[in-house]
Formats: sequence, structure tokens, C-alpha cells
Amino acid sequence: MAVANIVPKPNVCVVTDAAVFANLYNLTEQTDPAMPKNGAYEMNLTATESTIKAADEQGLFYAKQTMRQLQAVHGSNVPCLVIKDAPAYPYRGIMVDSVRHMQSVQELKKIIDAAAMFKFNVFHWHLSDDQGFRFESEVFPELIKESSVRPSSDFGKVHDNTPYGGYYTKEQMKEIVDFCHERFITVIPEFDLPGHMSAVLHAKPELSCKGEPVAIKTTAGIFPDILCAGKQEVFDFLFKLFDEVCEVFPDQYIHIGGDEAPKKYWKTCPHCQKRKAELGFTDEEQLQGYMTCRIADYLKAKGRNVICWNETLASDVLPKDLVIQNWMDKKKKCPSFANKGGRLIYSDYYHYYTDYPYDMTPVAKTYNANPVIKGQKAKENTLGVEAPIWTEHVRDFARLCYMTWPRFAAVSETGWTKPQNKNYNDFKERMIALLPVLSDMGIEAAQPKEWDPNPFTRLFGTTSFFAGTVNKEMILNFLKGNND
Ligand SMILES: [Zn+2]
Repeated sequence: MAVANIVPKPNVCVVTDAAVFANLYNLTEQTDPAMPKNGAYEMNLTATESTIKAADEQGLFYAKQTMRQLQAVHGSNVPCLVIKDAPAYPYRGIMVDSVRHMQSVQELKKIIDAAAMFKFNVFHWHLSDDQGFRFESEVFPELIKESSVRPSSDFGKVHDNTPYGGYYTKEQMKEIVDFCHERFITVIPEFDLPGHMSAVLHAKPELSCKGEPVAIKTTAGIFPDILCAGKQEVFDFLFKLFDEVCEVFPDQYIHIGGDEAPKKYWKTCPHCQKRKAELGFTDEEQLQGYMTCRIADYLKAKGRNVICWNETLASDVLPKDLVIQNWMDKKKKCPSFANKGGRLIYSDYYHYYTDYPYDMTPVAKTYNANPVIKGQKAKENTLGVEAPIWTEHVRDFARLCYMTWPRFAAVSETGWTKPQNKNYNDFKERMIALLPVLSDMGIEAAQPKEWDPNPFTRLFGTTSFFAGTVNKEMILNFLKGNND
């Protein structure tokens, strides 16, 4: 273990006397309004007295997370030290998909508490998709009755004929929000639209272009039935739904998805085409931009901001204050968006998607990812980092923990620690010492021997993952070096 074993690594940490242990019984908390209000804190541990100092409660909270790790790893032998610390990025998130497979409230709390210990400050909660709708709506009770349970599950090699589903009650969601707020974590609920809407359309087929029955999906994929962009009733529905969402989730951001929305039916739908003509648009991507703008404006009037996946940038009619989550920017729209002042969240598929095996995305590759992307001129337009766990193939909590840790921790260090203070081998040593701490919290991470498989294992694991769906570009991108 390191002399002072902390993840993410503090930006300045000087061990003043490793041979003398700090007196943590005589610990003083101070607030200093002159310090930055971005989570920065200072810590001075000596043999006689110890002090933590920050501008506000949030900074003191991070000091306590540092202390929590020091005491968990070093016991009563915490060395005398001085720390001056502040986050590299204001946005440090994890995302959990509770649609493909759900987690209990207790399981979510375990993940969130661990995330707090690693100084994450965003919990992005994926609550609606083709395979289920998980938000207890009282305004649209049919979404719970018709959209929350799928008849079977067919993900990859798993075929399970038992109905699967459920939803989170408002009380449970508020409990998660409170739990997060106690840890200075904001909650961003995601309702993906206009695509990935099969579950909603199953209950409300009148919101699709064709108005015909739509099945709730039992497999992974991209499906052609999406919300109609022409019908006024679609917007009426969304506004009422988001009114209800905002009552449960009080924080600044609402995620409205925007990824993987095929425009096949929009091209022939009379409602969509009428809207397109009225607005003078030349293609259907602009219609998605129009939908995004209308919802963003509606939420803005309620004091909120929206986040969208990067496909939304295919439209040229977007508001500038939209935040874009960059997961797979095939058309290279993100750098120019950032260069015009747009803000990005870095969630690169090949580096941060923790649902892929370690063979494909080793911990070193996740750790070394650079959230300032190629072609991006201003570093400050990266709002921060976020690692998702999609759960098509993650059926239980043990698997979820195994896939996400230590990769979440690797992302936490990029979010918090300045690049010049990062080093993978050093991280690895500190992280290994923290595995028993995670284990005590009920989180069994992947073991160190699995973190960075050798090139042969990676090649085998990656190509066999894509067997039958040969995708050379994806294989090569996964196999790229740890710094690419
Ligand atoms: Zn339509």
C-alpha cells in the first residue's frame, strides 16, 4: 500500500512524518469562506492535533471521504501529512441502467455510497427504455400497468421465459435522492427519447407514427418504432410526464437521451412530414433537434437543464446550453460543439462502458482515457466524466459490482486528479489496498489478476465477443492501446 493510500489521488499530499502517527482523536473541522466552493479541502494531520478545512459542507465531506479511506487502510497508523486538494472536473458521474435489469434500493445505496467514497458527485439513473419503464407515474398509471413487465428476457445467450420487471415507487426514488444528497451527489434521471421508447409505446401506441400496437422488447437492440415528432399529443404527454419527474427529482439536470433513434417511420409519417414542412426543415435529424429544443425549453422554464447523448448533435437547430454526453461520436460532431462553447461529458464507449469484459476494456485503458477529446481546443468545455453500466448482460448485483469496480475507481481518479498527478501503476497499488474496504461495504470487485489481461487473452476475448456480428472497426477500437 502507499504511505498515504487514497483514491482518487489528492493533488497535493505531503507526508510530513511517516514514522509518527497522526492524532485523529483531536480533530477540528473548520470552514473558510475564502476557499473555492468546488469541493476543495485541506487536511493537516499532526501527532498532536488534526484539522480539516473547506469553504463549505461539501468540501468537508470530501475531506471526510479521504479520512475514511486513510483510517480503513491504515487503521490507527495514519501518518502525519498535509493535503491540499480540489477536483479536476466539476462533473464526476456513474450511470446505472435499471431497465434491462433492476437493482434493489439497498443495492443502489451500496453502489452510491461506494461512489461517494471515491468523490463522485453524479448518479445518472436510466429509468426508461425499450425493455421496461421503471418510474411510478400516477399521472399515467398505464405505464406501470402495461410497460413495467416484459414477458421474457433474451439477452445474448440467456433465454429466460419468466416475465421480468417492476418499478421504483416515488417513495423509493425519493429515498435514493435523499441518500445521494446526504453524500453531495446529484441525481439525473434519464427518460430516453424519441427512440428506445418501445415500453412506453406498448402502453401508449397512439404516440408512435403509425399508432399500431408496439411490443415491449425482450432483446437488446435498436427498434424502428419511436415517438412521433409531429403529433401534438406526444408533447402534451412528455410535458406532463416531465412535470411528474421534476417533482421526484429536484436537481438541475434531466437526461432526455436522444441516442439510436431511427428515422425510418418519420420519413413517411404524415404528421412528421407536415411538421417538417411547416418548419422548413430539410431532413429528419432537424425534427429530432426540434423535439429536443421543445423539451429543453419546457424544462428550462422549470429551472432545469437537459443532457443528451451525442447523436442529438446530428441536428443543427440545438440550443447552445445543451450538455452533450459523448459516448460514440462517429460523425465527429463533439469537438466542434465544444469549440463553439458547448459542454461535454466524456463517456467514451471503448474506454468507459463497464458492461464490456475486462478483456475488451482493461482497467489501464479506462484509467488512461483522456476526457479532452481529439480536436477539442478548450479543456474547460469538458464538464467531466461519467462511466455507465448497461445491464442487458448484468443480471445481478454481484455481476454489477464485478464489472464496475475497480473501473469506476479508475474513472474517479480521472475526474478528480489532475493529469500530471496520475500514474496507473501507482493507482493500481492504492486500489488493491482498498479492495477489502469495498468488500466490507458489500462490493466484490474484480481481482487484480483480471484487470489487465495479456494481449492474446484480449484478442481472443474481444473477437469471440463479436463472433457472428463481425465488426472489424469495433474490434480494432477495443484492442487499441491503453493510451488511445
Ligand atoms: Zn410521426
